[in-house]
Amino acid sequence: MFRSLLKRSAARKRNGKAERGVCCIFKDTLEFILAVSESSHPREFVGLLTAERTAEGGEVISDVIILPGTRSSSFSASFRRDMLPLGVRFVGTAHSHPKPQAMRPSPQDLQMFAQTGQRHIITFFPYGEDCWRCYDALGREKQLKVVER
Ligand code: ZN
Repeated sequence: MFRSLLKRSAARKRNGKAERGVCCIFKDTLEFILAVSESSHPREFVGLLTAERTAEGGEVISDVIILPGTRSSSFSASFRRDMLPLGVRFVGTAHSHPKPQAMRPSPQDLQMFAQTGQRHIITFFPYGEDCWRCYDALGREKQLKVVER
């Protein structure tokens, strides 16, 4: 298993296609984000994303941290910066939009994205398996591969 992962990694390097940065999300992590979005409805949920390294040298989103003191309402969700845990390296955020098809980041979202990592997930009502999008820190839509843990 390990040897085949190493081989794959070497092959990717030769092709110059090594995946860098945050490229994937674990399926169960995405399902958790959608489930919390649904249970928070009609209020917004917001959380921080953490990641693990992959054998290919990229990173896979593996966990969501929901901070105490997060203010949430039907139209906004925001972090309290003083509640950010020390020593936790987060790679982005996840939050929900309670309106149907509201997949685009708002101007406030773009401000938050620019300050809190490189990948940002927005889920939207009705929180089905395709009811999410991923953006980078500048609000450009990015592909995120869903992988088994
Ligand atoms: Zn938003």
